[in-house]
Amino acid sequence: VRRILDIVGGSLLIQSSRILTPEGIVSGAVLVRDGIVQNVFDQDDKQLENELCPDSIDVGDRWILPGIIDGHVHVNEPGRTEWEGAETATRAAAAGGITTIVDMPLNSSPVTVSLEALREKQQAVAEKCRVDFGFHGGAVGPSRGASNSVSTPKAIRELIDAGIVGLKVFQCDSGLDEFPAITRRELDWLMPILAEAGVPLWSHAELIPKDWKSPNPIDEYSAWPEARSKEFERRAIEELIELGEKHSCPIHIVHLATASALSKIRAAKRRGVKLTVETCPHYLYFASEHIPPRDPRFKCCPPIRELENRHLLWQALELGEIDTIGSDHSPCPPSMKFLDTGDFAKAWGGISSLQLLLPILWNTARNYEMPITRLIECMAQTPAKLIGIEDRKGSIAPGKDADLVVFDDEEIWTARGEELEHRHKVTPYEGIELTGRVKQTYLRGELIYDNGKFADKPSGKFVKRST
Ligand SMILES: [Zn+2]
Repeated sequence: VRRILDIVGGSLLIQSSRILTPEGIVSGAVLVRDGIVQNVFDQDDKQLENELCPDSIDVGDRWILPGIIDGHVHVNEPGRTEWEGAETATRAAAAGGITTIVDMPLNSSPVTVSLEALREKQQAVAEKCRVDFGFHGGAVGPSRGASNSVSTPKAIRELIDAGIVGLKVFQCDSGLDEFPAITRRELDWLMPILAEAGVPLWSHAELIPKDWKSPNPIDEYSAWPEARSKEFERRAIEELIELGEKHSCPIHIVHLATASALSKIRAAKRRGVKLTVETCPHYLYFASEHIPPRDPRFKCCPPIRELENRHLLWQALELGEIDTIGSDHSPCPPSMKFLDTGDFAKAWGGISSLQLLLPILWNTARNYEMPITRLIECMAQTPAKLIGIEDRKGSIAPGKDADLVVFDDEEIWTARGEELEHRHKVTPYEGIELTGRVKQTYLRGELIYDNGKFADKPSGKFVKRST
């Protein structure tokens, strides 16, 4: 790996005919000093000549994009590193053009619901991160086993003061005993605290009747989305909107899968409810009609729905009704996916896609004729704003961290689980053909990924919300 910074003494100049900036696509060069974007020059700019030196890099027609920010990653460290871990997850991120990830408070052990647990997690992942790394805290309701204590206002305030970028809750069973669902009663005291601090509530929005049971066995995939009904998502979103409006609390709906919830979302946004919405690559790429029977690689919650639904999600993304895209990278050991027996009902729900996030969406956005500027806004600028780091990250502009991705939009390649960097190689994207590939990734001006090779040492730092 070339150490650019050593060569030109703290400066770096990269030229490209397509630099994606907040002002549009620029043909010119990005000048970086001490890890910060100093200037973006148009190619006709006279000043650019003075900056050119033998060590300038010219990437030609390859894009220079802002580093992708993935606000929704399950890293699972400490406690479940046999599922994933900071080392492998951040390698996958770097190779996928993602320069900041935010870790979810589950499925690590302990779950990040207290300051002590946050400190334990920070200690566990320190020195291992190849990209910048933020933390969500979590709030939990009373557990049936009573082994866990319910969240308290004090615990939430401590997490906020420690710099968490969002607070995650489940409105339904999370699948983990130590992370029980939140109830209306807790949301009623939680939301005013978040509103005052300006920290958004990130919610897994499904309200599931108490007597509901997953069908078993599940052979045809369609049995899964039919049982885990769209109504569950719609009802949970209605509750969030109602309470968020009452408490003026910023709400972020994670992994929206159901397009028929969009009418409520649209109306709430129009009324001024502080509401943002995330969706995920699997909802934007797959469609239930095309998923083979007894293939648990495709299991996630909420389920992947039909093709028509997917079209509507893309439309909403373009119109700004959906604001961000997060991977919801949620791996587990292959044994928990029951691939040999195809036992869909028993399999853990979660899809691994961190490294493929950008190329998958780039490809699909092209099919939907969605402008690349809008796509990258949903994956960099808006997530930066949402997690409170927009003063440093999210776009290529003077004063921002030089988190840059060199992307070749012509290279054709095939996604192979074996070649991905995350711990377990099981992925429903196995074998799909993609056009466009990440060639280099820069983190604060340092080349951390270059065509399959990584920097010698991890150099990711923790990020906190700006106050
Ligand atoms: Zn998740």
